[in-house]
Amino acid sequence: MRIDHEALVIGAGGAGLWAALELARAGVSTGVLTKLYPTRSHTGAAQGGVCAALGNQEEDHWEWHMFDTVKGGDYLVDQDAAEVLAHEAIETVIELEHMGLPFNRTPDGKIDQRRFGGHTRNFGEGPVKRACFAADRTGHMILQTLYQNCIKAGVQFYDEYHVVDLLFEGGEGGDGGRAAGVVAYRIADGELHTFGAKAVLLATGGNGRMFSITSNAYSLTGDGMSLAYRHGIPLEDMEFYQFHPTGIYGIGILLSEAARGEGGTLLNADGERFMSRYAPKAMELAPRDMISRAIYLEIRDGRGAGPKKDYVYLDVRHLGRAVIEEKLPDITEFARVYLGVEPLTEPVPVQPTAHYAMGGIPTDLRTRVVRDEANTVVEGLFAAGEAACVSVHGANRLGTNSLVDLLVFGRRAGREMAAYCRAAEAPSIAADVEEPVRSELDALRTRPEGESPSALKAELATLMMDNVGVFRTARMMATAVAGVAAIKDRYTRVRVRDTGRIFNTDLLEARELGYLIDGAEAMASSAIARTESRGAHSRDDYPERDDVNFLAHTLAYRGEAGPSLRYKPVTITRFEPKPRTY
Ligand SMILES: Cc1cc2nc3c(=O)[nH]c(=O)nc-3n(C[C@H](O)[C@H](O)[C@H](O)COP(=O)(O)OP(=O)(O)OC[C@H]3O[C@@H](n4cnc5c(N)ncnc54)[C@H](O)[C@@H]3O)c2cc1C
Repeated sequence: MRIDHEALVIGAGGAGLWAALELARAGVSTGVLTKLYPTRSHTGAAQGGVCAALGNQEEDHWEWHMFDTVKGGDYLVDQDAAEVLAHEAIETVIELEHMGLPFNRTPDGKIDQRRFGGHTRNFGEGPVKRACFAADRTGHMILQTLYQNCIKAGVQFYDEYHVVDLLFEGGEGGDGGRAAGVVAYRIADGELHTFGAKAVLLATGGNGRMFSITSNAYSLTGDGMSLAYRHGIPLEDMEFYQFHPTGIYGIGILLSEAARGEGGTLLNADGERFMSRYAPKAMELAPRDMISRAIYLEIRDGRGAGPKKDYVYLDVRHLGRAVIEEKLPDITEFARVYLGVEPLTEPVPVQPTAHYAMGGIPTDLRTRVVRDEANTVVEGLFAAGEAACVSVHGANRLGTNSLVDLLVFGRRAGREMAAYCRAAEAPSIAADVEEPVRSELDALRTRPEGESPSALKAELATLMMDNVGVFRTARMMATAVAGVAAIKDRYTRVRVRDTGRIFNTDLLEARELGYLIDGAEAMASSAIARTESRGAHSRDDYPERDDVNFLAHTLAYRGEAGPSLRYKPVTITRFEPKPRTY
């Protein structure tokens, strides 16, 4: 079946929804395709907050926020993008408030704000309250608010349509072609549909499922990143993957940094606040990369807790019942449900958990996808949110800076696409565009025998967790590069058990494993080539940052014999790189 709109938004998380809202308000015919029911998008799982230098309780300025973002990202951030982020954060948060988002309030009725790691006053002097929040359900409230406003504005949703290919006119995306639409698989009945459009936004979220311990939902398999990569578009800075310090021990479900923002502490087996060794000033409010490394070092040096000495504790006991119940209700409940631990009276076992992709599909400040180091635009293709790399997070994202990235760049994407649609002609799409993906899906479904994709996925996740995690060495990453290549080869022979068409999640999970493999390949290859330590990319064999050779973004292009890498310069406007201490 063929369906046409002027604009297509792939993904109904915060980034996709705000873009769709802008498009609908501009009167552009828009279809939102989402493999999940919109309010099940991972944005709804975000807990801690969304930052904006509102200065509601303490003096604050967007320039301070910009500086923190640049320093937090270990100077790999494009500073023009960080400026847009910090500046537009303020008006987008206020706009959300006006749309009806129920933020927590100060006694005088302003949006309440709390502390988060790496957010400081006066360029690093001390912590500042910058994170706006709705208890520990901030993302849930953002998603519901945006979804309701999209419905009000008449956005057309295609729920449970799994996008399986991108369409281009006049060449590949990486080769001068222009976006023309997508092919989507309707989950209910297995039918393929061709959607034509002038402008396509990729807002498909992250890919944390390539790791075995992760805070990410099952759906986060990097689909948009992989589809772009398959059409010749590079992936930027994939080696920078964030491990959040406080996942629930053994399962990785997140306990938000809000717990530390409200005054929670981290303890080792001896009951010691070990962060005093690693970040004496910022302590538990140091950035995430530093705290995750500190936890690993404590465990390595034998100060981990538990029978295997392999975790540390998050302690919120001293905050008292009122703060916990009012500001951290969900995460304390997670500790009770998943660990049987009562946070009011016991410290909670935690370990670092794979959390956030700093890298992704390269874009310019206008959210237009770019395909090389000269920032050549792929016409008609846009990206925003965790799938994109604009780059505001550089080598390490600060807490609460993702939600604001969705708002600022989701809004920009919608406005930019509306302007583009007004000027562009409708592209033409050939009749047989569904064929390549149809035969790939049929091969998965009809192969008489083959390996189980779920077992292969588990192998990939363990390989990546063990070798491309918090600490890396050349030997480990070489193991990952070779291991991913072997898994990629075996993937061509997997077979799904469900051969039917109705709600065949078995088939779609197998398809998603292919996307995860693409992301893992780009990540491992980009990582091994970066012979320095910066932000989340921390190497035992190259412990120092190397600004002479690596103050540059990696671009990984897909190739038959593995990715080929190129580099593009970092945009520096106000803040010259300095050593990063907290
Ligand atoms: C547990 C947790 C807590 C977090 N807490 C915070 C926080 O407090 N503050 C903060 O700033 N950040 C937080 N983050 C990070 C932040 O929530 C995410 O980075 C952000 O929500 C991503 O939003 P998105 O719009 O890019 O994509 P998502 O919200 O992940 O949505 C992706 C969308 O893409 C769709 N999609 C994907 N693939 C396809 C496909 N093939 N076809 C069709 N549709 C597809 C999905 O259906 C979905 O609608 C947290 C993350 C997690 C996991």
